[in-house]
Amino acid sequence: MTTIAIIGAGMAGLAAAQRLRAAGLSCVLFEKSRGFGGRMSTRRTGDLQFDHGAQYFTARGSDFFTQVARWREAGVVAEWSPGFYVGAPGMTAPARAMAAGHACVTQAQVSGFTRGGDGWTVRDEAGVIEAPGNGAYAAIVLAVPAPQATPLAASAGAHIPELAAARYAPCIALMLAYPPDIRQPEEPWVRLADPAIAWIANDSSKPGRPDAARTAVVHARPDWSRSHLEDKPEDLVAPLLERFRAVTGVSAEPLYASAHRWRYALVEQEAGVACLFDAEAMVGACGDWCLGPRVEAAWDSGCAMADTLIKSLR
Ligand SMILES: Cc1cc2nc3c(=O)[nH]c(=O)nc-3n(C[C@H](O)[C@H](O)[C@H](O)COP(=O)(O)OP(=O)(O)OC[C@H]3O[C@@H](n4cnc5c(N)ncnc54)[C@H](O)[C@@H]3O)c2cc1C
Repeated sequence: MTTIAIIGAGMAGLAAAQRLRAAGLSCVLFEKSRGFGGRMSTRRTGDLQFDHGAQYFTARGSDFFTQVARWREAGVVAEWSPGFYVGAPGMTAPARAMAAGHACVTQAQVSGFTRGGDGWTVRDEAGVIEAPGNGAYAAIVLAVPAPQATPLAASAGAHIPELAAARYAPCIALMLAYPPDIRQPEEPWVRLADPAIAWIANDSSKPGRPDAARTAVVHARPDWSRSHLEDKPEDLVAPLLERFRAVTGVSAEPLYASAHRWRYALVEQEAGVACLFDAEAMVGACGDWCLGPRVEAAWDSGCAMADTLIKSLR
């Protein structure tokens, strides 16, 4: 059976896998993290949880709207505010549902590829990565942010010059937890014109979240994030907490405070095509960087990648 290696189990890679499987093709997902979803992520610590990456998603196109309706029916997505959807009980839920039943190798940071008579093999720094099946792939899909796809495409000798056009803004996220009896703001989120903070989400107001604490996720502005990207995460808590206190008036000491640095957070400049494919190398690339800074764009790009491959392999 023709098998395809998909590098990256975020929304784009999982959408590609889902569509390839529906067309009767087999694939193996390689993911460097322990779990699925990429930037649609949930940090769990004790009784607390935070969606510290993507906050919500919208569905502008009818195909994605249908997908969202299916997720809602399956109970892995809920509406936070009219037209604004979240994974439930956490942002990773739809990704976990999509990964079920696929061959996946997690905690595998792919560093390159080798092409032999049977097809491509996938390797990390230690050598060829053990995976279900015979370990030889007819095609490779790079479903990772463009700057991370560039060296991987080079390792396969694939010609995908558009990768260089995509640009990302970084984002530093601050996760805060307060006792459950603290006054909860009425709005699900606020956007701010602050020099440091762009957005505060009332994270525990999302449907299906634990009620052990009131949680907030603070996203720093791109410029602020850029100038603090190389700081240690523990050094980022104090300055962002100070701004949070200044803009919200909440002076209480948080039960928990932690910062996360997203180096490739939101696409600033997309490639402007649904996906890219080098038919000679049989290497494709997809992700939000193709179409824009949204979960839906990543899904659309992954689906387009699968359609391109299906056509090519037939
Ligand atoms: C702070 C923040 C806020 C956001 N807010 C929103 C929002 O409100 N609404 C919205 O729609 N979108 C939002 N987004 C954007 C949204 O999360 C992304 O557009 C979407 O999740 C991208 O999916 P993707 O599959 O293209 O990439 P990713 O989710 O980045 O998936 C790529 C995957 O590849 C893996 N990977 C990378 N390199 C390798 C390697 N060498 N080997 C193996 N695996 C590898 C990564 O671990 C990751 O799991 C936000 C993102 C961030 C970070």
